[in-house]
Amino acid sequence: MKSIPEIYGSLVFNDSVMQARLPKDTYKALRKTISEGTHLELDVANVVASAMKEWAIELGATHFTHWFQPMTGVTAEKHDSFISPAGDRVIMEFSGKELVRGEPDASSFPSGGLRATFEARGYTAWDPTSYAFIKDSSLCIPTAFCSYGGQALDKKTPLLRSMDALSAQALRILRLFGDTESKRVITTVGPEQEYFLIDKEMFLKRPDLIYTGRTLIGSRPSKGQELEDHYFVTIKPRVSAFMKELDEELWKLGIPAKTKHNEVAPAQHEMAPIFETTNVGTDHNQLAMELMKTIAGKHGLACLLHEKPFAGVNGSGKHNNWSLATDTGVNLLDPTDNPDERFLLFLTAVIKAVDEYQDLLRVSVASAGNDHRLGANEAPPAIVSVFLGDDLTEILDSIKNGVVFHSRGKTQMGIGAKVLPHFPKDTTDRNRTSPFAFTGNKFEFRMVGSSFSIAGPNFILNTIVAEALSQFADRLEQAADFHAELSALIKENVIAHDRIVYNGNNYSEDWVIEADKRGLSNLKTTIETLPAFIEPGNIEVFTKHNVLAEEEIRSRYEILLDNYSKTIHIEALTILDMVKQEVIPAIFAYESELINLIEKKKAGGYPVSPEDILLGKISELAGCLYKKLEALDNSLLEAKGGEDSLALASFYRYTVFSLMSELRAVVDELEQLVAKKYWPYPSYGDMLFSVVN
Ligand code: ADP
Ligand code: MG
Repeated sequence: MKSIPEIYGSLVFNDSVMQARLPKDTYKALRKTISEGTHLELDVANVVASAMKEWAIELGATHFTHWFQPMTGVTAEKHDSFISPAGDRVIMEFSGKELVRGEPDASSFPSGGLRATFEARGYTAWDPTSYAFIKDSSLCIPTAFCSYGGQALDKKTPLLRSMDALSAQALRILRLFGDTESKRVITTVGPEQEYFLIDKEMFLKRPDLIYTGRTLIGSRPSKGQELEDHYFVTIKPRVSAFMKELDEELWKLGIPAKTKHNEVAPAQHEMAPIFETTNVGTDHNQLAMELMKTIAGKHGLACLLHEKPFAGVNGSGKHNNWSLATDTGVNLLDPTDNPDERFLLFLTAVIKAVDEYQDLLRVSVASAGNDHRLGANEAPPAIVSVFLGDDLTEILDSIKNGVVFHSRGKTQMGIGAKVLPHFPKDTTDRNRTSPFAFTGNKFEFRMVGSSFSIAGPNFILNTIVAEALSQFADRLEQAADFHAELSALIKENVIAHDRIVYNGNNYSEDWVIEADKRGLSNLKTTIETLPAFIEPGNIEVFTKHNVLAEEEIRSRYEILLDNYSKTIHIEALTILDMVKQEVIPAIFAYESELINLIEKKKAGGYPVSPEDILLGKISELAGCLYKKLEALDNSLLEAKGGEDSLALASFYRYTVFSLMSELRAVVDELEQLVAKKYWPYPSYGDMLFSVVN
């Protein structure tokens, strides 16, 4: 068996492969493109393509594909083989042109109206900052995807633009602190991925899981997570075999999978990688989700990535650990043993950004799936706030109050804050209820849903922090006395954005009231949230930093609403089919068994009261079921697409979704009354405890 260092990155055209296989000048030119974003000449691309092809063929690849992330939320690929005819035979070819640009037909991908005014053609453009890799015998080339007119049609493009924006603004700040060395500031991300594993046989018996990713009906199991006996327990052999294969496949792709454990809910697990540059971390998270699904299948399991596969059971999120670092390797959110003014300035910028753009952060995590989770009693609430922990709060308080501390061996900083010697990192990671928590040397954005591409949350986070930094830089660059201005700036902003800092229990009722008093927004559903995306101030921040143009924002807004409506529409059709085709026949079958029994008993002169009562209850509920079914059926006839996509999505949320929930309540009650042998679907208990060994 090969060792981990031997398999790690073995399917990746990474730096060491490039160094070994490319001529020196080609390697240098490509390196420059990667680190500085410079243009790559076609003759250089030809050499790179040829080396890539040789390498890929040696590893068994027969095809190549531009791998991209359209607005569907999943990755897309179109495979072309390397073959090219040469007389009676074929040769294997791959040109620089094929490497750098592709032309998939864009008309089958969501464009939110951008397509109507432009050609159907779209372009994929090579992103050399994310290494090519081999998957399913294909050489995969990470690419950005845009329309004929250059508008972004994918998730990667705004992310790359936001990283440029953030770098530019952060460098302005660093220069003011005398840093002349750093050439780029990058954002880093380590996404902790939660997921469920259930037995595949059970999965295949549930049309709701197959079509919508979540159970649309199902009464609670008699045993849930009350005993909290799943978190961190020994991993079962079948799950363990899955995790082992997952780790190996992730490692081969150079994805630094680090931690795995069982989560709080039964059948729930987590995988966390070591953090990477955001762009690469995003690609890797997409690949990880895909691998989880395919590898689960091989082990007779189904991997559920939906935010809320089971009502009443903990949902799944993705903790987006995020920080900023210079290309020289300095983490700008690391307070070190002695938090200095530069750290405080970057920290304050993040706090200001989160406060001023709470609604955009909320937009970044809005979806039909995540609506089930945000605000429920186990996930961060829909209210955005920042947790800083005792030590940082104490420092910011002293800045705010201008209090000078000399005691306890703490040293005084120029801006009137005490410095804690040996800043204890660990004490900051205790509050698990905060949606945006400082955890030692990074922020952890916990509202992201488990099925999300992290591109969205990160491009928004990068953009709003870039804006805060640009405002700081504007002011500091003009200052006559840099240090005096710096102190004033930090103090002013700490005071101005005090309201967003909350270290208490975010799940408590008191916080909802308190947050309201503080004027924080509490956007409970996707419908309430999405309009914030197109508010003038929010459009401005994206256009100012060249992350998204106004038409691109509007197209994304349309896509998100459309996606919401379609999700609920599919859910409604699925529950209707399930109830009509299987639940009702099951009820009839059980009723007729009861009727037979009652008749036989009557004929024999026996009392029939328990059967009668049960039959009465079931028929009453069945009557109710019919009414709910009809109401839902009719509502779908009323749901008409038109000009106003917000109105349509609202109709789906407040009418269709509500009727679905009402129907479900009746079905779930019936599930508890109808004999199990008649019930057509595996129960919650069956599914959640299906992986027994
Ligand atoms: P936990 O949050 O469970 O206590 P850790 O603090 O070890 O666990 O880290 C969780 C995740 O945060 C990991 O994916 C880790 O790689 C990531 N992480 C650590 N440092 C940074 C950083 N500077 N930037 C982004 N992510 C980071
Ligand atoms: Mg964590």
